[in-house]
Amino acid sequence: MNISVVENVLKLNDELAAVNRGKLKDHRIYTVNLIGAPGCGKTSLLESTATLLKNKLRLAIIVGDLTTQRDADRMALYCNHVVQVNTGKGCHLEANHVRTAMERLPLKEIDLLIIENVGNLICPVGFDLGQDVKVGMFSAAEGDDKAAKHPYIVQEAGLLLLNKMDLLPYVNFRQEIFRADIHRINPKVDILDISATRGDNMAAWTNWLCARAAKSATQ
Ligand code: MG
Ligand code: ZN
Repeated sequence: MNISVVENVLKLNDELAAVNRGKLKDHRIYTVNLIGAPGCGKTSLLESTATLLKNKLRLAIIVGDLTTQRDADRMALYCNHVVQVNTGKGCHLEANHVRTAMERLPLKEIDLLIIENVGNLICPVGFDLGQDVKVGMFSAAEGDDKAAKHPYIVQEAGLLLLNKMDLLPYVNFRQEIFRADIHRINPKVDILDISATRGDNMAAWTNWLCARAAKSATQ
């Protein structure tokens, strides 16, 4: 009984995600579903990303959070098109949240949509939102075992970010173990070592976004 309820919820979600995907494709919007634990630096990454992409890509951001408006308020300083979704007790975004948020965005004026999922490495991975790619985010402050403990995001990610490289001298994070775990789980995925606050590899990240967005604009 329980299993069929879960299956139905996921089936409905997949149907709505397909509608989102079609609409985003019609508008040639490249869409990223950004998934990482609370405190890994998702919002800081997006602040810096929005700054770097100014005059390059027209960016919109959907921010998922349980109850607060804080991330959207932070983002609004850097990006003109920010929609906050409060999920209440929900620990992940679903396609229906994104569908509603998209209604509040001027889709014709957007090249790149980044969806900051609720801080959580587990169930956000299982809910398709209609994105082109999932980007998984870890940080050096979280510990080098996190990729091994959360294999599903590693398996599904089109790119992985390791943030807070500026903290590396102060934390016990063995990069070789983190990288070996990822390579074992998903040999194909690239890992970008970044610091959203210090700027490490932020050009590589924004170039990656620009290349992907340019490609989807011509398809
Ligand atoms: Mg955040
Ligand atoms: Zn959840």
